[in-house]
Amino acid sequence: MSFSAADHQFMSRALQLARHGLYTTDPNPRVGCVLVRGGAVVGEGFHARAGELHAERHALAAAGDRAQGATAYVTLEPCSHTGRTGPCADALVEAGVARVVAAMEDPNPQVAGQGLQRLADAGIAVASGLLETQARDLNPGFIARMTRQRPYIRIKIAASVDGRTAMASGESQWITGPAAREDVQRLRARSSAVVTGVGTVLADRPSYTVRPAQWTLADYHGSPGEHNQAGRDWVRQPLRVILDRTLRTPPDVPVVSAPGHCLLVAGEQHPGRQNALESAGAEVMHLPASGSGIDLQQLLIELNRRECNEVLVECGATLAGAFVREGLFDEILVYMAPALLGSSARPLLGLPQLASMSEKVALRWQDVRQIGDDLRLTLVPALPTLP
Ligand SMILES: [Zn+2]
Repeated sequence: MSFSAADHQFMSRALQLARHGLYTTDPNPRVGCVLVRGGAVVGEGFHARAGELHAERHALAAAGDRAQGATAYVTLEPCSHTGRTGPCADALVEAGVARVVAAMEDPNPQVAGQGLQRLADAGIAVASGLLETQARDLNPGFIARMTRQRPYIRIKIAASVDGRTAMASGESQWITGPAAREDVQRLRARSSAVVTGVGTVLADRPSYTVRPAQWTLADYHGSPGEHNQAGRDWVRQPLRVILDRTLRTPPDVPVVSAPGHCLLVAGEQHPGRQNALESAGAEVMHLPASGSGIDLQQLLIELNRRECNEVLVECGATLAGAFVREGLFDEILVYMAPALLGSSARPLLGLPQLASMSEKVALRWQDVRQIGDDLRLTLVPALPTLP
């Protein structure tokens, strides 16, 4: 399939539009659409929130009659299933669009290609795969959930340059600077859930909330047209998940009382503690215990059931080490501060001692950049997780 320079330009615009939904579409994918006729954009839109119009619908509404004979650039294959407003594929057919270019097919293998097939059956020229890598990068969690039945997992660690995450005493806050912490805010804002362990809750008293900031406002201000009304002061809080085998979390900590939903995952029955936490507004559920913690495979099944796309693991070395040991991660983000904490400080990850170099956890650099005074190192498994 060959695409022209103009095709690339308009799909880039559609990808840019899709990014407006980065913090809001959950659990739906971020999708953008541009309608072009005679070389000019006649309509564009993006999906803002679940339950609201899909990107194609916004673009069609903006274009009106000018959609007739137009080319639609969509970052994800138009849907063919019947939602509350009917499939977008049918809407494109009704509007008389002549050609549809999708960046990628629907990641759900059960429905992949059906939207494009529906368009082709109606005599519309269809093509797929333009800027597909960029389109996939927009929705790693949605894709993971559709293809692997589990969320996309990022493990976030703040460390000194000697790879230490906390003092031996457990004191760990403020290793990195304000810019890195702001960057973590963005990670949280795009995540469906933040996962932590009770040890971190007790030591640091974090809240894991997303605070409304200039960058969220900027994203909404960038909304194209009056068709997309994403609330400017609206911030979606990720689900906060605390792995707490024996329910040691005190009911009055910020992670329980902050705005949004807090889920405590226990491995044992402690009715008194459970009642106190539920009275404080938290949800308590039980999953099988594994060693001193919770069975992480079962946790991911549960988060998948709750339609979590991207999950941010923000915890101490022990729990982070457990995710890595079980191979349950897609990205490790290390925020590295220009400081040394000394050899008695706590390590980056709690991993068992290796007998030989061949047992090492092999990673690959995906991105390295400076964030304020710190470095952000993005690592992925050396062998990509399939598919
Ligand atoms: Zn749709």
